[in-house]
Amino acid sequence: MKLGNIDGRAVLIEGSNAVDVAALSDGRFGPGLDAIYDQWEEFVTFASHAEVTGGVPFVLSDLGCPSPMPRQVFAIGLNYQSHADESGMQPPSIPAVFTKFPASLAGPDSVVELPADTVDWEVEMVVVIGRRADRVPADQAWSHVAGLCVGQDLSERTVQFAAGMQFSLGKSYRGFGPFGPYLVTPDEVDDPDDLGLGCTINGETVQDGRTSDLIFDVSSLIAQMSDVLPLLPGDVIFTGTPSGVGQGRTPPRFLVPGDVIESWVDGVGRIRTTCVARTSTEAS
Ligand code: ZN
Repeated sequence: MKLGNIDGRAVLIEGSNAVDVAALSDGRFGPGLDAIYDQWEEFVTFASHAEVTGGVPFVLSDLGCPSPMPRQVFAIGLNYQSHADESGMQPPSIPAVFTKFPASLAGPDSVVELPADTVDWEVEMVVVIGRRADRVPADQAWSHVAGLCVGQDLSERTVQFAAGMQFSLGKSYRGFGPFGPYLVTPDEVDDPDDLGLGCTINGETVQDGRTSDLIFDVSSLIAQMSDVLPLLPGDVIFTGTPSGVGQGRTPPRFLVPGDVIESWVDGVGRIRTTCVARTSTEAS
């Protein structure tokens, strides 16, 4: 199942068509995605039996964020050996967790203002929680996952490393958490623990990795984090980035206005993020 967001309404993706969930279910589910995550198991049962027909054609720019206002957003630093190496850091002994504040999230075809000249890219597989996960053992973890997306953990490196590490602030500028293009349930991919992911900038491949190289895989992350606190329906986990970010280059390279980032996870989809100069002093 593929589940998207168009104008705040949940839609099932059937090929190039989108089918409104609230209409399909006579108002039982939706209209928005947040309400669906809170009834995730009932919704999956309904969707597996529903006869999904019709719908309307859509394009990438019609789609919004697949979990628009989660209660919690987790992101994992240094979760690929290759990225730890290029960062000159030892891989951590427990997951290096920070948050991207929910108001920084964006959809799969977004425009992001660059607040500084040291903004970097990080392609990541994104996990959305379906069933509440509270002290879940690793071998049960995937049953709590609603689905997968591709995301960018955009990072303003100067703020990130200021004042004794400001990861959450430096990665939460407006629009710094785009993901999508829609939620893809784990059964839709061959092996959710081994998916290719990468990104290009203006067509040049800068990152190309596999989720099988995660130091802490999805099961381990959910087990370790849910031992600390419950993971709630709709919560979002940015699982970490492989090597190839700009800061790790000699000389470092950062995003500039006009850059277009295309990011993918195999079997999940692609998103596009367009960088522009910061123009406004007062955001609308
Ligand atoms: Zn990251």
